[in-house]
Formats: sequence, C-alpha cells, structure tokens
Amino acid sequence: MEDSNGSSAILEKYPFLGCPHCHHALSPADAGLLCETCGRSFPSAGNVPILFPEQVTFSQTAATSHQQSARGVARRVLTYGRHLGNNHQRLVDLCAGGYILSVGGGPQRDRPEYINFNLAPMPGVDIVGDAAQLPCQDQSVTGVVCNAVLEHVRDPWKVMHEIHRVLKPGGFVYIEVPFLQHYHPSPEDFWRFTIQGTRELCRDFTQIDSGLCGGPMSTVVELVESYLMLPLENLRIRNLVKGTVRLFLYPLRIVEPFVMLSSKVHTVANGFYFVGQKQPSPSLAPIDKRANE
Ligand SMILES: [Zn+2]
Repeated sequence: MEDSNGSSAILEKYPFLGCPHCHHALSPADAGLLCETCGRSFPSAGNVPILFPEQVTFSQTAATSHQQSARGVARRVLTYGRHLGNNHQRLVDLCAGGYILSVGGGPQRDRPEYINFNLAPMPGVDIVGDAAQLPCQDQSVTGVVCNAVLEHVRDPWKVMHEIHRVLKPGGFVYIEVPFLQHYHPSPEDFWRFTIQGTRELCRDFTQIDSGLCGGPMSTVVELVESYLMLPLENLRIRNLVKGTVRLFLYPLRIVEPFVMLSSKVHTVANGFYFVGQKQPSPSLAPIDKRANE
C-alpha cells in the first residue's frame, strides 16, 4: 500500500482519475485513493491505482480477465494490416500532448504517450480497473485507444459509452475490432463486427476515418492456419504448419492490391479500424446528465 504521498503522486500523474462508481474526482488517502463523494476507497499496488467500483481480489480479476492475453493473438493477426502504426501515430498527433488512455493496453505500449489501462496488474499497466466502468472523471482525457479488446468484453456498447463519457468534447477515439478471425478466447471471446456493426458501435462519434485493418489475404492465411492446426497439439508442429502455410500462400499477396480495389473487399476483411471524434460542443453530447466542472 502507498502512503498519502504516493497517492498524491498518482493523482498528480493522472489528474483525470475519477471514482469508477460516481465519476467524481479522487483524493489521496493513507492506503490509496478516496472518493469523498460516495465514500468508496481504492487501494494501489506500488504506484498503480486499483480502481474497481466494488472490491475484488486479483484471483477474481484473473478469472474474468478478457483484455490482456487476447491482444497477443489479435496483434499477430492484425500485423498484416497496413494502417495500424500510422493510425496510432495519427491519434497521438491529433491529441497534441493531451492524455491518451489505452483501454486494454499492456504489457506492451503501442506509443510512449499511451497510458495503459487493464483489468489486472502486470508489467506495463499503469491503471487497473474495468473497461465497462472507467475510473475517470467525465470529459477528462483527450484520446482513447481500444485495440482488439471489444470482442472480449461482455458489453462492447457499454465500453464505447464509457469511452465517450470520459473523452473531452472534441476528443479522439481509435478502435480496432475483428471481423473474420478465428475464435480466440482469453479466456472469453464474445463478438465479431461487420463494417456496419463497427459503425454502429461508434455511432456516438463523428467518423474521421475507417477501414480494413487486415486485408482479405490476412483472413485467408489465418483461417487456413487455424483449420490445419485444429488436430495439432504439439507446439513445434503447429509452428511448422504455420510457417509452411505462410510460405505457400505468400505469393498470393501479388493479387492483393487488385482485390483491395473491389468495393466488396470489406466482406472478407480480417478486421476494421475506426478513428473518430466526440462532438466538440458539450451540449451536443448528452451522454451523461452531469455537467463537467
Ligand atoms: Zn464515488
């Protein structure tokens, strides 16, 4: 547990933090952070605040963890995408030095500017809590990135609502979601999103850009690999099969630029990305009835 100096340092570093229950600002306390509005207190582990609306143990969070290990699989799949690195940099540039929360971020940090938020404490995670009840004040951060996470949460619409709530008016969001990907629970995998579903998920934001984050060839390679590996348990054999599939299918990439010209290319996409902006005027974003101080 941190002393109140440690808690003050946490709030100084992350001034946007808020009570995950009532969303009001937090105060330093001897054993962590305190919400003076609703009376809830929150522990910290070292300099990492643990901000769940109700008290949970880490064994509970591990049992329901949906965010961290899934990203490795999704990242491997999405590596085929051509826009991803550019999109992360674009978000950083749009946010121009403002706070950017990476929901489901960690252990890796996609950009040094990202503040990693995840369901369980682990290396590289700065803030711990539940994505469906973000521990941030209303309209308090400039950017949110949510990369290959929404398929692993029970209620992705609730998470998007929370992202909208914590963004400042005019703030930016960047999400990536899977479409034609194999089932990859870690431990849970609930959803896939079509291009229409992705837009519906982001309906509260004004679109800046959206597109495929994995072309048709990513879909073909991934699904052929997954199919052939179904009966295989041995890791070395699985890796051998994976390498062989990629070797044989790689030449097909030569047709990918022509395939990408089709207006129907989204029907076989591996996943989609969306870059959006919250309406600049607070009066146009009636997502929460409480006004921002
Ligand atoms: Zn509270």
